[in-house]
Amino acid sequence: MIGEADDKEGVKIVLTASRTDMSDFEDDAFTAFLCTFPRFLAGIRVEKYLKPSADEDGTCRFAPYGLRKVEALLVEEFGRENVVVVHPAMLNRFVGPKTQLIGISVHDPAGLAYVSMTYNSLIGFGGTSLNQHEFKRLMENPVFRNFEGKIIAGGPGVWQIRDAKLQDTYGIDVLMAGEAESDLIPLVHRLLNGERVDEYVHARKTDPRRDRVPVILKPSTFGSVEITRGCGRGCRFCTPTMRQAYSFPIDHIMKEAKVNIDGGSKSIFVVTDDVFLYQSFPGFRPNREKLVKLFNSIASYPGVQRINISHGSIAPIVYDPKILAELSPILLEKSGRKLRGKTFQTIEVGIETGSTRIMTSHMKGKALPLDVKDWHEIVTQGLGIMNDNGWYPLCTMMTGLPEENEEDTSQTLELMDKMKSYTLFYVPLLFIPLEDAMLRNAKRCGLGHINDLQWEFIATSWRRNLDIWDGEKSQYYRMLGFALYWAFLRWKHGSRATRAAMKFVGMPEFLFPREKLLGLRCDHRFCA
Ligand code: SF4
Repeated sequence: MIGEADDKEGVKIVLTASRTDMSDFEDDAFTAFLCTFPRFLAGIRVEKYLKPSADEDGTCRFAPYGLRKVEALLVEEFGRENVVVVHPAMLNRFVGPKTQLIGISVHDPAGLAYVSMTYNSLIGFGGTSLNQHEFKRLMENPVFRNFEGKIIAGGPGVWQIRDAKLQDTYGIDVLMAGEAESDLIPLVHRLLNGERVDEYVHARKTDPRRDRVPVILKPSTFGSVEITRGCGRGCRFCTPTMRQAYSFPIDHIMKEAKVNIDGGSKSIFVVTDDVFLYQSFPGFRPNREKLVKLFNSIASYPGVQRINISHGSIAPIVYDPKILAELSPILLEKSGRKLRGKTFQTIEVGIETGSTRIMTSHMKGKALPLDVKDWHEIVTQGLGIMNDNGWYPLCTMMTGLPEENEEDTSQTLELMDKMKSYTLFYVPLLFIPLEDAMLRNAKRCGLGHINDLQWEFIATSWRRNLDIWDGEKSQYYRMLGFALYWAFLRWKHGSRATRAAMKFVGMPEFLFPREKLLGLRCDHRFCA
């Protein structure tokens, strides 16, 4: 039995996360995305979702998928009665003299992730990101004040706590980076035994072929279910590529789907770094048969009303267009999203850049099983196939990658011209070196140093989003409200943002042609 709520003794191990990380946003992952925006803008929209949703015993009804994995590992080792996952508002009911360890899951605690960094500096007002504010609020919870046990934080955002020098501020004993399966249990034993442990621990890579990855025991936020781990395509800015690539067996996946649906979720969120890698063949060739079998199994499980997918790459769709032809009838029926009355499915796809030079040096594998030199064709054909099958992807694109020059940014703008007729949502980002990525020592790209073409890249993206999604009461449209703050760019970022701001507010392009802007730059090959 789980430790009793209001048991003044408390529970031995208490797991928690900030209110934004803990909320299920009524099963809407897109609303969670808003928490990366400034607090005074996003807070108005999402405050109503941040209240605790608890089971009868006071523990969390839904919790982040990673925290549920940690819970499953700890329950196996220490017993169900000694481990609880609770909303921050419930901490005082479970932390007591018996509590020896509080574990905190962190996603974006200092607002240093890609979207937070790009948009907080871009918008320039509204305070710190909501995620950052909520982490601070969690750590200032009175239960921590006199807590004498150990505090450990883990999850994709631990490096932010270290870099923002918040570990001592909040009295966190250990920051654990990386996957939990190999090293978490020995680490917890050492902490509970009072042994010395490094302040920053980088866990060994999990190999699911060797290390047991447990099935979650209670429902995860959004009905999350991991189908693959790792990628292996080798993009140098990316962290999933550093993990062991693995596809989980279908019965393991369905057990987790059952936990979610039986626990009250109406949807399944398929967590993957690239859905098309599921049981793929050597050379990153997609396995259509296995994909269709997997999604048929999920869709036919009683109670599954919606299926959402996190990430996918675009090249496999071009390599085998029949994949979407066969998946779409299954997935459109479980979509729940509409644009101008038409049902669509969505997925996050990394387009990243239009520069084949940058693609070749930093992310050659992204085009596999096709050739990176055909990147523009792969992108445009892939988008065409997606749109034809009712998929409107959310496409991340990046500027400020190491060695990127104006010619590279120009090629990105060229690619965007070719993408103009497709329905997608553009997510322009500034490059940030991530802790575990191969480019971890590269220079961060800040708004203060981007050139006119890079401004244009950002403005064009948001202008397109307005053109595509305007007028719809879709989830996307709600978010576009934030983009209106572009109007402040002229004031905030000075004359270099002028063209971008003009374009964003819809002034005709002939007034500020890109060629003219390019012409402002001296080409040293021809200058005397
Ligand atoms: S394709 Fe995506 S997940 Fe795979 S290595 Fe590249 S960026 Fe990472």
